[in-house]
Amino acid sequence: MEQAKVLVIEPSGLYQQIIEQQIEAHNLEAVICTNSNEALALFDNNQFQLICCANELEQMKGVELVAKLREKAGGTVPILLVTTSDHKEIINNAFSQGVTEVIQRQSIVEIQYYLKELVTEDLLSESPIGNILLVEDSRPIAELIKTVLVEKSHTVQIVTSGEEALEQLNSEAVFDLVITDILLEGKMMGIALIREIRASPPPLDLLPILAISGLDNVDQRIEALKQGATDFIAKPVNFDELVVRVRNLIRSKRLYDKVVAQEQQLRTMVVTDPLTGLYNRHYLSDVGMKRVNEARRHSQQLSLVILDLDHFKGINDTYGHVVGDKVLKCVGACLKQACRKEDFAVRVGGEEFILVLPHCHYENAVNKAEVIRQELLELKPEGIVITASFGVAGLDPQDKSQNFSHVFQMADRAVYYSKENGRNQVTCAHSLEIDNN
Ligand code: GH3
Ligand code: MG
Ligand code: MG
Ligand code: MG
Repeated sequence: MEQAKVLVIEPSGLYQQIIEQQIEAHNLEAVICTNSNEALALFDNNQFQLICCANELEQMKGVELVAKLREKAGGTVPILLVTTSDHKEIINNAFSQGVTEVIQRQSIVEIQYYLKELVTEDLLSESPIGNILLVEDSRPIAELIKTVLVEKSHTVQIVTSGEEALEQLNSEAVFDLVITDILLEGKMMGIALIREIRASPPPLDLLPILAISGLDNVDQRIEALKQGATDFIAKPVNFDELVVRVRNLIRSKRLYDKVVAQEQQLRTMVVTDPLTGLYNRHYLSDVGMKRVNEARRHSQQLSLVILDLDHFKGINDTYGHVVGDKVLKCVGACLKQACRKEDFAVRVGGEEFILVLPHCHYENAVNKAEVIRQELLELKPEGIVITASFGVAGLDPQDKSQNFSHVFQMADRAVYYSKENGRNQVTCAHSLEIDNN
């Protein structure tokens, strides 16, 4: 990604330094000159993303230079005029010549807002450009809008009716923005389309929508916004305005998506064991409890399998902690694979794991544990033969006094029995109870 360039036209050495520092602090490139002729020559040989021009210049007034630069630059490059004057007349004249903002010399730090904008734009231009669904019944207008947006690297799909638009939105295609005309072909008008999109299940319900309609129809505009349009643009469409509105909407969506993804990531991190990728204790105490309560409420089976690797300390002592970690990772992967859709595996401690198996009678859980015991025996992670001791217990769905910790304790006691009885084996808590009797 090329660094964005800022053209600075500034005769004062001190201000040159201040502005340059700000630009470089944003990791952007400053190209500095002191007069209009230099500025015009530089402009012809470079692409600038921002222009910062002093009003008090030799040769010509800053504002005259700005008018020339604006003519060359077109509509999209912001041009800032730095001045000591606060005369309304001078300021108005500057705006009419194409200045984006007049900045008072003593408030020069305000250029940082524009610099920040450039940095964000840089970041966003690395992410894919928007995929846009354009709903417009006039082919010529649709094609025109498409050309303008494709020029800005967006991809655009045109449909002419609301019905077709919904079909596309509910297909595999993923859109970042809907641009819709209000008057459309077919029965469904733009307003109804907006309403339908907002009433859709996520993520469609939050998709940005830019509505287009006749300049003079204020009621229509208000109604579109009321029904959930994110933004509005009037016909005849000003393409510079369209490009900026589209960019803003897609940018907001990207930022929102990023926040949602980060939130999701945090939520996952909180319940995940970083070494094995299995769930951790937090998840177990939350979801394990819920599953047990559900099973009790609906009189369904649920079993727990606890396993503890045998003589794991010896593996660490012999091969080192790093190898020990790799072994734990392999065991984690093996347990994850053993889970059906509704099951989940948790690393509860160093080398101790638990499987929560809803809808599973303890006899089936014993069989499952036996299969896993065999698999672990054959796994030989890092070439090391490992074994584990298992304990299995099931919820008695009829016994309303049982809770999660009750079943957990039974399974844990069964593990202890497996250890005492020579390790590398599965013990069922319920056969222990029978034995004890
Ligand atoms: P037993 O058969 O009685 O379970 O013997 P053991 O050695 O497996 O049990 P003990 O509880 O004495 O030791 C567990 C060992 O697990 C000690 C600790 O160093 C190791 N351990 C715990 N967490 C980790 C970890 O994250 N990585 C590694 N490499 N080792 C761990
Ligand atoms: Mg129309
Ligand atoms: Mg152990
Ligand atoms: Mg242990």
